[in-house]
Amino acid sequence: MAKASQLHCSFCGRNRDEVKILIAGQDGHICENCVEHAQEIIAQELSSKQEGSSTGNNFKLNVRRPAEIKKFLDEYVIGQDDAKKVLSVAVYNHYKRVNNRQQQDEVEIEKSNIIMVGETGTGKTLLAKTIARLLNVPFAIVDATVFTEAGYVGEDVESMLTRLLQNCNYDVAAAERGIVYVDELDKIARKGDNPSITRDVSGEGVQQGLLKMLEGTEVLVPPQGGRKHPEQKMIKVDTKNILFICGGAFDGIDKVIARRVNTNAIGFSVNKEEQEHQRKNLLQFINAQDLKSFGLIPELLGRLPVITHLNPLDTETLRNILTVPKNSLIKQFTKLFELEGIELVIDDEVFDFMVKKALEYKLGARGLRSICESILTDAMFELPGTDVTKLHITLTYAEQMFSKSKLSILKVA
Ligand code: ADP
Repeated sequence: MAKASQLHCSFCGRNRDEVKILIAGQDGHICENCVEHAQEIIAQELSSKQEGSSTGNNFKLNVRRPAEIKKFLDEYVIGQDDAKKVLSVAVYNHYKRVNNRQQQDEVEIEKSNIIMVGETGTGKTLLAKTIARLLNVPFAIVDATVFTEAGYVGEDVESMLTRLLQNCNYDVAAAERGIVYVDELDKIARKGDNPSITRDVSGEGVQQGLLKMLEGTEVLVPPQGGRKHPEQKMIKVDTKNILFICGGAFDGIDKVIARRVNTNAIGFSVNKEEQEHQRKNLLQFINAQDLKSFGLIPELLGRLPVITHLNPLDTETLRNILTVPKNSLIKQFTKLFELEGIELVIDDEVFDFMVKKALEYKLGARGLRSICESILTDAMFELPGTDVTKLHITLTYAEQMFSKSKLSILKVA
């Protein structure tokens, strides 16, 4: 039998002491590097096989007219009409452009990547996700804050394509007309007015890194993500038909808009009420200039030509979010109880209570789920297996359950 020091990887020949792990087989060994490498080759082989057959597969593009896209969005997303309209048109034009590319034409339609500006929890991700589902294209959500300029600790911007590839099982052709949602774009805004004093690896550097990708270029993507290393086999992805939708809260941008709007409105008098209304809805006037003042570089803005905004969620919208969408929270909980043979009946005033708490605790739409859970968890714990067939949630019951929950301990900021 070979001594431990003589053992080596039968694939790359490295000795036992040059590798971390050496796995024994019947007649040989394999090291961790070769396992990793083999995994990448398998992924790539699978992807090229799928590429060949991808035209008739699960990712068959399903382009709809703008009005149809909006109608579909209406089923899942409450309100946000402006954003829905702008998105429907941009997405429609984008895929029209993709389909038109085969016919060589003098008029080149530019890509319509999109920026959505709106407070967190107002439905930006939901809109992007819902559109991708309707069109039947691969979709990935990435967070701009994890990226750093190439060469620094953090992720390269290319890794967003890794995620897209993973989400469509390495079907490169499908990924090349997918949608990437880049969240928290505002967090990579240039900090301060003078960018040259210190290196800004997570701000302007990342914006620069995004430019080519947004415009359309061939990118070598590490199939398993992480940093590129020389031994890794890369997958080539062309981004010219990938639609990038970026979102961010851009906290404080209303002041930037106000400054611009007010200077433009000199000599134009409106009554106090109207002024107040416009102040509250300043986001509707957002344009590229405001985003530039906020710290996005002009080159990046040039590649994100479509700008839209989402409104903050008011009482009525929150109330509708609970019950109206096709897969609304209440419909989901009702279904869960139904599967146990229990009919769930919730009094109307309970919905008002939930919305009131979401607003009071500044939890927004995301908080509605935790509020529902705080009220229903005890019942979901106790009722399965009993002979109860109906659960009636009254306001008193809801208040009692909520006051027992951890949520109610949260301090209102
Ligand atoms: P954002 O990306 O703007 O931070 P999300 O889209 O992730 O917000 O919204 C968080 C959750 O809140 C969604 O999964 C959804 O359940 C709910 N939600 C937010 N806004 C809406 C809306 N306008 N219509 C329906 N549900 C919404």
